[in-house]
Amino acid sequence: MPEADDEFIDLRSDTVTTPSEAMREAAATAEVGDDVYRDDPTVNELERRAADAVGTEAALYVPSGTMANQIAVHVHTEPGQELLLERESHIYRWELAGAAKLSGAQTRTIDAGERCVPTPDAVREGIVGEDLHRPGTGLLALENTHNYRGGTAIPVEAIAAAAEAARDADVPVHLDGARVFNAAVALGVDASELVAPVDTVSFCLSKGLGAPVGSIVAGDESFVEEARRVRKLFGGGMRQAGLIAAPGLLALENVERLADDHANAERLAAGLDALDGVDAPAPDTNIVVAHTDDAGIAASDLVAACEDAGVGCVEFDEYTTRFTTHLDVGRDDVDAAVERVRDVIRELA
Ligand SMILES: *Cc1c(COP(=O)(O)O)cnc(C)c1O
Repeated sequence: MPEADDEFIDLRSDTVTTPSEAMREAAATAEVGDDVYRDDPTVNELERRAADAVGTEAALYVPSGTMANQIAVHVHTEPGQELLLERESHIYRWELAGAAKLSGAQTRTIDAGERCVPTPDAVREGIVGEDLHRPGTGLLALENTHNYRGGTAIPVEAIAAAAEAARDADVPVHLDGARVFNAAVALGVDASELVAPVDTVSFCLSKGLGAPVGSIVAGDESFVEEARRVRKLFGGGMRQAGLIAAPGLLALENVERLADDHANAERLAAGLDALDGVDAPAPDTNIVVAHTDDAGIAASDLVAACEDAGVGCVEFDEYTTRFTTHLDVGRDDVDAAVERVRDVIRELA
């Protein structure tokens, strides 16, 4: 057995958490049925509780956050319509052009600057009216927290202002809220307040909340009814899914403790920022973004050397690396990770 302090500290993502004993127990003993027939009581309960957690009428359990977003795009848009989103958004950057391939949507991007919150003016400018030459905008998608910008927590007013600009033009709004509970905890508001200005929301149970599998897409009854058909179309109709939904119910109890991940991330950023040639701004939530242009260290080299030194992280850009805190890393792990990265930076610089 390796010493505890020799163990690999995995900060690649908050998706790497493994289910707790309680989650394994809940999975083993879950009451189940065929969820395509809506017979699974555990899934039904999870969908009710998830809707309550974000303040929507209804919710649907789906295999992943990507599917949740893609279902929303499919329900809201007609093929050929435009999907308006921010240029660093997850839906645009990391979902394999799913909007084009699965829904025939044309994407139009907004450059929303440092914090990636589109202003109402930028939204108005990006919306295309339907006429002889133009297809019309079918959906505006926003993101909170913003992954690529380092888990930035977007305040209610900013979401509401962007959403209002779209809705004034009769364009519905979807919020990619993969980490919306991180935003809520960081801002000290209820998640339902962040969701109230938009029509639909997706969030991941399998990230900071610690479930092994699954995400939610939520909105009003009629949206969720249609989303259920699209989930089937995309191959996401699951049968005795209560086995994986049961840990999801426990995950919903992990919202408040996200504050611990945020405190750990702040500590990590301060530790990394103090290293020569590393710029790691204080994070809003659990994602630390470290820039190493000043040290002239490429992210790919940093990631490889960190892995050898026992720290997992991921490349975001040529000189930008992401470190993410989560349920399975404590304060001591953070301190040990900073020590290891210090040695790596000394060697590479
Ligand atoms: C992780 C993530 C997703 C996708 O979730 P998966 O479950 O990995 O498919 C979508 N949006 C954002 C902002 C994310 O961070």
